[in-house]
Amino acid sequence: MVRFVRTRRRFLELAGSGAVVGIAGCLGGGGGEQETETETETTTATEAADDDHDEERPEGVSEEEFEHGPVPEPYRTALSQANERRDPDDLFTKEAVKFQEADDAVEAGLTEAGRNCGNCAEYIPDKNGDGFGACAKVEGYIDPEDWCSLWESIEEAEAEEGENGGETAFVA
Ligand code: SF4
Repeated sequence: MVRFVRTRRRFLELAGSGAVVGIAGCLGGGGGEQETETETETTTATEAADDDHDEERPEGVSEEEFEHGPVPEPYRTALSQANERRDPDDLFTKEAVKFQEADDAVEAGLTEAGRNCGNCAEYIPDKNGDGFGACAKVEGYIDPEDWCSLWESIEEAEAEEGENGGETAFVA
């Protein structure tokens, strides 16, 4: 259950640390060892910057699978955290629902801070320890720190479910 290196923000942190080491190397008057370390850090950050748009993915999962599925079997028809059943034949693409990192969505004025997949009614939490869940409405793997335009609070969804009788009424 190994995860790839963490997101663009993490890459920027790495870039930042490389810069700091670089400055420290200059100010310190420079042993060869420090210069070598600086070079290594900078290279790592540069490589990371090249991967800027690569979303982290669980090991062994292709980009196509990550974006469009199929998701692992335990998620395929699972219930979301507000009891919505996932229908693998009736899902939105991520593009269609403005799927993106929650922080970016806040910056773009698309949503309020604090709203993300992890606290959305449609989210199906991680079941296999890889850090990703799924969604009852959107295809592919879902990071709890992402967001989309279908976000709905769990409380609202549960209230609606209560009014409508909920899924258990259909099952019974
Ligand atoms: S915010 Fe969108 S993608 Fe995330 S769990 Fe909710 S409906 Fe699914």
